[in-house]
Amino acid sequence: MTFLLLATLLYFLPTIIGHNRHNAGGIFLLNLLLGWTVVGWVIAMVWACSAETRLPVVVVAGPGRFCTQCGSLSGPGARYCSACGRLV
Ligand SMILES: [Zn+2]
Repeated sequence: MTFLLLATLLYFLPTIIGHNRHNAGGIFLLNLLLGWTVVGWVIAMVWACSAETRLPVVVVAGPGRFCTQCGSLSGPGARYCSACGRLV
């Protein structure tokens, strides 16, 4: 019984790790449907671990503008770069 519980926990480890991620539903579905194949489980695990590092990049890159001169990020409505003053 203890072994079965541990095996279940291990099987759903990617879901447990990624439960508070933006795409937790996708991780859960991949884990549930393809987790029995080792490849599917590994992909779900990698996805669960990498989702958090990718999310802030997507959020930041959405509304803001990057300066072509110095590469720093300005606010959504900014016309001039906050770092070097160039028009963005
Ligand atoms: Zn700049």
